[in-house]
Amino acid sequence: LSERLIVDGAGDELERLAATANEMLTRLEASFDTIARFTADASHELRTPVAIVQTTGEVILMADRTPDEHQQAWRTVLMQTDRMGRLIEDLLVLARTDCREPETSFEPLDLGTCIADAIRDVRILAETAEITLTATLVTPCIVIGDTDALRRVFLIILENAVKYTPAGGTIEVSMKCNRRGIQETAIVSIRDTGIGIHEQDLPRIFERFYRVSRDRSRRTGGAGLGLSIAQSFILRHNGTISVTSVPLQGSVFDIELPLSNSAVFTESPE
Ligand code: ADP
Repeated sequence: LSERLIVDGAGDELERLAATANEMLTRLEASFDTIARFTADASHELRTPVAIVQTTGEVILMADRTPDEHQQAWRTVLMQTDRMGRLIEDLLVLARTDCREPETSFEPLDLGTCIADAIRDVRILAETAEITLTATLVTPCIVIGDTDALRRVFLIILENAVKYTPAGGTIEVSMKCNRRGIQETAIVSIRDTGIGIHEQDLPRIFERFYRVSRDRSRRTGGAGLGLSIAQSFILRHNGTISVTSVPLQGSVFDIELPLSNSAVFTESPE
């Protein structure tokens, strides 16, 4: 693949054809590199919990262990198999979106309700972490989409906001409507007062397996797939997801989704 067509002096038509072919080869090479990196990262992520389960299994089989040590070892096994299970689920989700399966599950849904459901699921996490979570939602606000996928997107971003915001901080969810030509859109902003993200990391956080700090993320349980899943779900809905952030001050994730034309707007606090 590393070879390129050289047709100097062969005439405009042929030179253009060779340039197009070379461009395609370059893109193919980049795709192969991405696939190779993805496979290597996925294998690496799976190898760690497998190794932990293996050594813990050996501990369980040792005759001189106390019941307490046995229990602790079994807890470790369960934690690691849970981690592997979640990772495999995430890899399957990404594989399915990569295959561009037809959108059979798309139907009209109220975005405000979908976000309220996700907020309900993370509220207990936020309270435990002593973080104030507020939301002002617009409802009804109808988009055509997959409720489960969109709820997952908001869960991913809200859970990250909780993970990366210290105690005493706040997370604010707000929603507004926008008009782009004839297309109306909803913009959902999730703003936190957390640790923020450095400028050099910002363009990379939607990449698969990208984590700003591996140690911190490992402690918080993430494999760096959350935001790439969120992004592929939003792209499937013809929407956009973007982030702005200031280190030590916080981050804002904006999601813009096209509205179904039948939407009617009234503001209501969650
Ligand atoms: P992870 O599972 O590690 O959280 P994600 O894909 O969800 O993976 O996020 C990628 C990285 O982006 C995280 O490891 C974290 O460093 C950074 N990040 C995501 N959301 C936030 C946030 N709200 N504040 C600070 N950093 C964040």
